[in-house]
Amino acid sequence: MVFMIRYVWVSLCCLYTTCCWSAELTAIEMKWLHAAEPVLAYAESQQLPIDIVVQPEASPGDAPLAMAVKDNRCQLVLSMRGNKDAEATLMNVPTDQVNLVIEAMTAHEVAHCWRYKQGVWHTVPAGFVEASSDVVQDTGLRQLQQQMRATRREEGFADLVGLAWTLREHPDQYAIVHRWLEQIRNDQPVAGGYHDTRLWVQLAQDSSAFAKGESPFEQASKLWNMGLLTEQ
Ligand SMILES: [Zn+2]
Repeated sequence: MVFMIRYVWVSLCCLYTTCCWSAELTAIEMKWLHAAEPVLAYAESQQLPIDIVVQPEASPGDAPLAMAVKDNRCQLVLSMRGNKDAEATLMNVPTDQVNLVIEAMTAHEVAHCWRYKQGVWHTVPAGFVEASSDVVQDTGLRQLQQQMRATRREEGFADLVGLAWTLREHPDQYAIVHRWLEQIRNDQPVAGGYHDTRLWVQLAQDSSAFAKGESPFEQASKLWNMGLLTEQ
């Protein structure tokens, strides 16, 4: 708890304004940040520069938790005020599993920061040869497809980090978080869309698919690469 207060008070800023040191967190924000605390502590130990940002008012469609980058630092953005869907992802989660799920979601966001800081955002591993599946003639549509694919891959990586984190910290509850993620990802507006990470989630169905004894980022990388090959 002490760590969280220090973390929040050192880093809490409001979007579009200078730091607002007197900002008070809502009960929902406190709940999420408290659950996220072990992941944020780990991120700090990995020298990932993450500031926590609280949006004074969410815009329609804002994800409650998201990662942004500003001035070469990562920002974990909470958009929960005025957001009726702030806790939609927790809707069917039993109370005693809420923290577990929030931790996995936070690890997902931290994975985006890790990829960015590694300088590999929207890239594929060295030596990976892209299959030329973009046969669409329309340039705009082709660009959209490429954009979706790049985002989908980042989301896939981040989902795997969320699962690898769960395996590392809560091995006995891995199946619960996997099932929850599977359920979330099965609800796709369009197959192959930005968040259609089903391929990677399926690869991680059995936790033994992850290699042991490495960071969650490295563990995720191996499975992610497998997924990239399958995706082709
Ligand atoms: Zn994401």
